[in-house]
Amino acid sequence: MKGIRVHTAGGPEAMRYEDIPDPTPKAGEAVVKIDAAGVNYIDVYQRSGQYKQATPFALGLEAGGTVTAVGPNVTEVKVGDKVAYTGVPGAYAELAVVPAQRLVKLPPGITTRQGAAMMLQGLTAHYLACSTYPLKKGDTCLVHAAAGGVGLLLCQMAKLRGARVIGTVSTDDKAKLARGAGADDVILYTQQDFVAEVKRLTDGKGVQVNYDSVGKTTFEKGFDCIAPRGMMVLYGQSSGPIGPFDLGILNARGSLFVTRPSLNHHIPTREELLQRTGELAGWIRDGKVQLRMEFEFPLKDVGEAHRALEGRKTTGKVLLIP
Ligand code: NDP
Repeated sequence: MKGIRVHTAGGPEAMRYEDIPDPTPKAGEAVVKIDAAGVNYIDVYQRSGQYKQATPFALGLEAGGTVTAVGPNVTEVKVGDKVAYTGVPGAYAELAVVPAQRLVKLPPGITTRQGAAMMLQGLTAHYLACSTYPLKKGDTCLVHAAAGGVGLLLCQMAKLRGARVIGTVSTDDKAKLARGAGADDVILYTQQDFVAEVKRLTDGKGVQVNYDSVGKTTFEKGFDCIAPRGMMVLYGQSSGPIGPFDLGILNARGSLFVTRPSLNHHIPTREELLQRTGELAGWIRDGKVQLRMEFEFPLKDVGEAHRALEGRKTTGKVLLIP
């Protein structure tokens, strides 16, 4: 089969489209023929060496497709099932071998492409809005990079939970998309001072939660727009990692909370994986949450996909088609 591997971390050219032996499933594993793999910002951190990995390594942490073989003792899925998964490396490929426990059977009405598009970013938006800071009516949240993959989903889920949403984006076109996803107000943070704007939009009160995936360029200032006893949720670093952090800021800005969460810790068991995915798939099937899947690249053009994502050219989900 063909797949993407990185032998030395680096730029998009570090990803090689190679012949890799077809996988065979061991006990508890299934082989999935991949219809679409999701591209996520974590793939950029891994490829570039920002998140260290032993080389060579396979990229890609989510996909949707069809089960073609199962190993002994697999009860969760059978050959022919349409499935999706996240959290298992090697999705940038024609075939993947996946612990059956991590596979989710797609309900009728959800395609394998939608499955690939919803898992990593959708489950992230779900845990951020429902668990890290369970949004409720009366809350206002700030969503940075609101037209991105996670951003568009988080805006929609925050609205579903009754919160007011203030989004930040870099362009007018992205502002339109964020508004379409439910953002009540959108700030062009590349042109406007987002702290001053948040204060203006909240009559000086600030937001209950600041969902920050941008990191370096937004994190420190972000504390200035959180209401007393509110929460800073740093869940990514698309502009670069933050520097050392002084906990004294939390006291000075009003007994704030700070957390740095990860999806893996929110789907540790099959029960929690199925609970979150079930709710997410239901919202998608019922049209309450829309997946934006405008950007598709053939697997062999993975470099182009990464350049587009890093270059802030994409909105919503980016898919690779083997
Ligand atoms: P996005 O589609 O959101 O792409 C990243 C966006 O970040 C860009 O479109 C851009 O939006 C914004 N951005 C701001 N500054 C920069 C910069 N200097 N370079 C590049 N982009 C910049 O990606 P994803 O939806 O895949 O991921 C969003 C974030 O969420 C990432 O930081 C990722 O690591 C994190 N994440 C964290 C998870 C967790 O569990 N902790 C799980 C999943 C994702 P704009 O042009 O509007 O500024």
